[in-house]
Amino acid sequence: MLRVGVHVSISGGIYRSFDRAKELDCNCFQIFSHSPRSWKFNLPGNDDSEIFVEKSNKMDIEPLVIHGSYLVNLATPKEGLRERSIESTQKEIELSNEVGIDYVNIHPGAHTGIGEKQGLNNVVSSINEIQGLDNTELLIENTSGSGTKVGYTFEQIEELIERVDADIGVTLDTCHAYTAGYDLATKEGLEKTIENIEETVGIDKIKLIHLNDSKNPLNSTKDHHEHIGLGEIGVSGMERIINHPKLREIPFILETPVDETRGDKENIEVVKKIRN
Ligand SMILES: [Zn+2]
Ligand SMILES: [Zn+2]
Repeated sequence: MLRVGVHVSISGGIYRSFDRAKELDCNCFQIFSHSPRSWKFNLPGNDDSEIFVEKSNKMDIEPLVIHGSYLVNLATPKEGLRERSIESTQKEIELSNEVGIDYVNIHPGAHTGIGEKQGLNNVVSSINEIQGLDNTELLIENTSGSGTKVGYTFEQIEELIERVDADIGVTLDTCHAYTAGYDLATKEGLEKTIENIEETVGIDKIKLIHLNDSKNPLNSTKDHHEHIGLGEIGVSGMERIINHPKLREIPFILETPVDETRGDKENIEVVKKIRN
């Protein structure tokens, strides 16, 4: 069964995400629990949380995902930033446990000069300080590898999965993978990438796919998402990803632009059209 959704706003109350998802014909969705460019965290009131849970029980919309704050950096050598990042992720997990959100998606972070090895060590020890990962699963999203970001190879993500105490999963972002050097645009490239995933993290650890086309070419390490089929991965690349026997049952969440070319609804329609 095709599970496809987009990132929706919680403006006006966290529960309103369900109505927005439904309006867009989504049967899963992702939200920010607060402004992703601010540390300020306003937890929803009890009433809002209750309505959220009610709607969640009534509607066939799952999984539900929180995308962590852009400020979070679990790989950082700066102690203050590391503590804030752990605290912020901890709050996302607590909120998720409270209202039944399935996954909290995070970028592993940037080492900012201390080297990848130490950066990955920091991610491991940071995640190990987070409590409550039994009900809500933490997902590590692969990155495009720009700057000093870690987590741009499946080998690095495998290392994180193996070393942290909790059971964590992976989000495969197709734009990030592509610009990090995994050629998802070609048939051979997709097969090779899936083989690489199987040899490292394992396909069963991929709990979510961020389905994004890419404005930038292979290996560019740039992170600019494009409408489905209109970027470097292209229509046939997207078609192969969406229909691949090893990927098709994984939920797809789009983080595509909203502009004069297309909005979320149109991108969702494209996905449904090219799904076999
Ligand atoms: Zn993503
Ligand atoms: Zn991205």
